[in-house]
Amino acid sequence: MSQRNKKSKASITSTKTKNTVIRVNNRKRQQALVEEQLQLQDIEDSTPSPFSFSKDEIHKLRLALLEWYDNNHRNLPWRTFKNASNGDDEEEEEDEEVQRRAYGVWVSEVMLQQTRVQTVIAYYNRWMNKWPTIHHLAQASLEEVNEMWAGLGYYRRARFLFEGAKKIVAEGGRIPKTASMLLKIPGIGEYTAGAIASIAFNEAVPVVDGNVVRVIARLRAVSANPKDSATVKRFWKVAAQLVDPLRPGDLNQSLMELGATVCTPLNPSCSSCPASEFCKALSISKEDTSVAVTDYPVKGTKVKQRCDFSAVCVVELLGADTMSDEKQSTSKFILVKRPDEGLLAGLWEFPSASLDGETTSSTRREATNSFLKNVLRIDTRSKRTCNIVLREDVGEFVHIFSHIRLKLYVELLVLQLKGKVEDLLESHGNETTNWKFVDSNSLSSMGLTTSVRKVYNLVQKFKQKSFPSHVPAKKRSRTTRRNVV
Ligand code: SF4
Repeated sequence: MSQRNKKSKASITSTKTKNTVIRVNNRKRQQALVEEQLQLQDIEDSTPSPFSFSKDEIHKLRLALLEWYDNNHRNLPWRTFKNASNGDDEEEEEDEEVQRRAYGVWVSEVMLQQTRVQTVIAYYNRWMNKWPTIHHLAQASLEEVNEMWAGLGYYRRARFLFEGAKKIVAEGGRIPKTASMLLKIPGIGEYTAGAIASIAFNEAVPVVDGNVVRVIARLRAVSANPKDSATVKRFWKVAAQLVDPLRPGDLNQSLMELGATVCTPLNPSCSSCPASEFCKALSISKEDTSVAVTDYPVKGTKVKQRCDFSAVCVVELLGADTMSDEKQSTSKFILVKRPDEGLLAGLWEFPSASLDGETTSSTRREATNSFLKNVLRIDTRSKRTCNIVLREDVGEFVHIFSHIRLKLYVELLVLQLKGKVEDLLESHGNETTNWKFVDSNSLSSMGLTTSVRKVYNLVQKFKQKSFPSHVPAKKRSRTTRRNVV
């Protein structure tokens, strides 16, 4: 063997030895952490709290939860990455894998907030296909991100994820490895920081989401309001007690998984629950039949929703230039961009005007007319610029946001322009950045918020009903031809 090869082999051996030593030291440190934590637990035990677990309970509960998780967890796409401490890969390669995992955990946890797992899977796979790493995401545009997110709701989450990725890439491209550092990234709160740090980086920090609150509230029979800030802090403390220092990510996921699949809100399967031996709610319910485990956690008072009303006008434009040539007869729809702050910030929607409450059709049209005139400079009453080909109320529906109940009245307004559709754009010069034209094919395929999609579906249904012979059967839900109206 040449000297060079010998040297390089020696260097590889030394790196591997170094990695092994680091891992052993980490294990020792983590073991010390367990001891320290259990000692702390002993101290806390001297002032017993109904929330706390004893040292013995913690030990047994961890074992039961981890064993159950190993045998029962769902195979979800964001769980398919390798663990940080698995295998003998080179340190650098392993670090890359851990970074990819951290990014995947981040994306999935943000998507999972307020959204069901089954819905998230398809979104997650599409997202990771398009932006497999944080570097890819940082190069995207907000427009693309919003489009990819369309239908998931709570669009601020997507924006923060995007801004967070850009910040990390601008600062060196490494996702921070501790919860305290992760908290400095825009949009990452205590929950997401705990999830990334524990699942991807093996940091022994807790994670508390709605599922964990429910499980702990039942295990400890907590009768305090779980939304009360002092109670929330105590849930975090209990979750911190339970975190297994050697497998923090798996322990956290086991609690979340238990809440999602066994200890469900209305039908918990106590007979197949790995934690039933430690569950106070269950033992109380056995002694007192008037108590059910589902009495925990106690229901907080619901925040009253605000009721808003909106007149939505789907404006379909038929340009004069498109009239004579059937091939170019695609009509255009106007979309307006919402302000950069507030509800659905920066997303595209059909023109709309806020209303004071339930109104008549003529009041709504007045509100719409002034919006079109003042904001888009389309004067529906001036025959010099356009003719109204059709104007019909096509339906109404209620869309629920977390804190707002929004009633939308939808009308279809088809205008025949005197000039080219593009002339309208030119008349606005540089101001056109907040609105645009799209044809029906683009509208059907682009990412739209759920409420905008519902509005468009109402219009399509109206057309199919009113002009069935003009809508090609196969394309009825996707294409709107000029001669429909
Ligand atoms: S025993 Fe029942 S109530 Fe208690 S944690 Fe398990 S599933 Fe939930």
